[in-house]
Formats: sequence, structure tokens, C-alpha cells
Amino acid sequence: MILKNCKIVINREILEGDILIEGGIIKRIKKNIDNKDTKVVNLKGKIVIGGVIDAHVHFRYNNVKKEGFISGSKAAINGGVTHVIDMPNDNLPITTKERFHKKYIEGREKSNVNINFNYGVTEDNYMDEIDKAKSYKIFMVESVGDLFIRNYTKLKDILNQNKIFTIHAEHKDIIEENKKKYSLNTWKDHCRIRDSRSEIEAIKEILKNLEVINRLNEKNPHVHFCHVSTGGGLNLINMAKKKFKNIKITLEVTPHHLYLNRDMAEELKGMGKFNPPLRSKEDNRALIKGLIYGNVDIIATDHAPHTYEEKSRDVRECPSGIPGIETFVPLTLNLVNRGILSIFDAVDLISNNPAKIFNIDNRIREGNNANLTIIDLKKEITIKGENFKSKSKFTPFESWKVKGVPIYTLVNGNMYKI
Ligand SMILES: [Zn+2]
Repeated sequence: MILKNCKIVINREILEGDILIEGGIIKRIKKNIDNKDTKVVNLKGKIVIGGVIDAHVHFRYNNVKKEGFISGSKAAINGGVTHVIDMPNDNLPITTKERFHKKYIEGREKSNVNINFNYGVTEDNYMDEIDKAKSYKIFMVESVGDLFIRNYTKLKDILNQNKIFTIHAEHKDIIEENKKKYSLNTWKDHCRIRDSRSEIEAIKEILKNLEVINRLNEKNPHVHFCHVSTGGGLNLINMAKKKFKNIKITLEVTPHHLYLNRDMAEELKGMGKFNPPLRSKEDNRALIKGLIYGNVDIIATDHAPHTYEEKSRDVRECPSGIPGIETFVPLTLNLVNRGILSIFDAVDLISNNPAKIFNIDNRIREGNNANLTIIDLKKEITIKGENFKSKSKFTPFESWKVKGVPIYTLVNGNMYKI
């Protein structure tokens, strides 16, 4: 197959040319490739980028009512995503080697996109070494079963290893305190209980331990903060990035924390319930500013499907989490069309940077697997949950008009039209 007349984004530059793909591999990149024996797709100046990586998804292993590797990966393809990293808070949580390997084999077999997995860290298993794990996930607040660090004094030993840790930073004690102060009656109460202080204090707790580890300089962990949602948290992490020379620190934000805020909570109802919760407008602005100034490493979705019935319940019974993988690329490209980001910044945030952090080779170069996302930056769409391939066919962005969409996804040479 030849992709003709592409605008290929490589190293923050646009290269005009054709891409020859054979046997799932990028064989040649140059101008005017001709081969009469192969299929030609004329992309007429459309943008081709290294396959988009969603580094934070929940494909709900063992819960096919909500999602699964098959529906989750179809959703990924429909969203222009070629690689995902799945989280371990399944039922049963992925906190043993056996469970990890079982999930790994099944996930690799059933998924139509490239899939990788996190291992779940507990107070007992934190020394486990899992060759195939992309990173080790730490929950500072209750998730599923034993997948939760209750005793924060253990964090120093846990983090003092040569591993990549992904951290869900919400402080369990502050949330517990808030639960005593506020009852959970309105959607805003959910935001009040899991307030910005709970994120900021959890980040401080991690950084306090990293300070010691940095000084000891025995081990050099890489700590990646998931879904940072507050301006305060973002600042603390960026100060630490400069300060700790022996520790790599990176962070992600989600599209929902960039676009939505707690003033919308009562209107969004269950569609606006996730953790960390909706924050303030000022936090939206601080995160956007973080993107502009290069203080955010990646955007990832925290794609967390539930059933419509569950999300329609009242605030106490409604589970946290929303689907996000099919609105991920459009909501990011929309920031380009709004003049907030350059196309190169956007490609760094959703493709190049997650590749570097999680050691995934999605580069467009001869000899590599053809994992590509093809973009029409000028096309406008109205977001409709009913068009999703995910089992969760709803979104807080219902009826939003956005500009800039993926039009094809190529996974190891298999081309899917969106
Ligand atoms: Zn998550």
C-alpha cells in the first residue's frame, strides 16, 4: 500500500511525501513512490503522525458488560489511537504475577490495537519485578481490593526502585476528613469531598519521599503523575522536576480536566463524575497554560467505561469515570484549531512524549511497524456518544462541535477508516 501526498510530522517538522507499507512495515518514505502492483490511498495533504498513544485506559478485563479488549480496542481505533496502556484496577486487581500474565496473554490476543499493561502495587507485592509491565501503578486512595497503599510510610521503600511508577494522587485522609464534613447529596459535593487539597497533599506526600530518594541516590525511579487536575499540583510537580536530578518526573492531564469544571457539575450529573473530580475554571486555565509552556508531558484519557444505567443513578450510586478514548484526538486537535497549541505540540503530547516515557516505538521511519494516525485538521464534527464503538455510548462532550479529527488509524499496517 502507498499513502500518497502525505504531510508527515517527524521531529516537529512537516515532510511532504509518500509512505510505502508492505507486510505491516514502513518500507519507504519519500516523494513520488510509484508501484503499480499495490493499492494507493491518496491523502491529498492530510497530516500523518506516529500512532497516537493513550497511556491511561481501563478496558475492564473480566467485566465485558462494561467493555473488554475487543470493544475497547475498537473504540481506540475509532478514536485514532494505535497504542494503549491498560490499568490494573480490574476485578480481580492485577496484583499478582499470575493475574498479570493471564491478562497479558488474553489482552494481546484479543486487542486490535497494540496494548500494554500496568502492574498494581500493594504494600506486600512492591518488590515484584514484572518484565512485561510498562509501569507500576500506585493508588493512594481506595480502588479495588488490595490495590491501594493505605500506609503512606511505606511509600519511600516502594518508590526507591528502578521502575516507572504511575501514580493516582488523591490523599486518602483528606478525603475521609471531608466525608465527615460534607454529605454527598449534590454532584458538587463529590468535588467538595475529593477537593483540590486532597490532590495537592497527595502530590506533596510523594515529593517528600522522592526528596529523600533523590538525596540517597541509590535508585533512580521514574515517577509519572496520572491525571493532574489542579494548578497547584502542576506547579509542585514542575518545581520538583527541576530540583530532583536523580529522579525522572513526568505528568499527564486528561481532556476532561482541560475542558470541564465544577460549575458544570449539576448539569453534567453522572457524566461529570470522575476521580479526580471536576475542578475550578482557574484550574482549567492553569492546565491549559501548562500545555502551552511545556509543563505538561502528555495528554491521556483515563477512559473508564461504565454502563449507561450506572451513570444515570444518583450521585451516591453513580460510579466514577467516563469513556474518553474516542474524543481524545478531536479534543486535542481542537486546541490546535483554537490557536492554543501548535500541531507539533499536540503531536508531542499524544504521540511522541508518551512513546518516550513508556518506551514505545511508534516513530514513522523505514523498518518500523506502520502505526500511524491520519488527521484532517480542518474537518469539523459534532460529538455524539451514539457513534462510539465503546460499550459506553455517552460522553460529557455530547453535541460539542470540535475541529480537527482522525480520519484513518493504521495499526501494524492494517488500515481502518474512521
Ligand atoms: Zn484511571
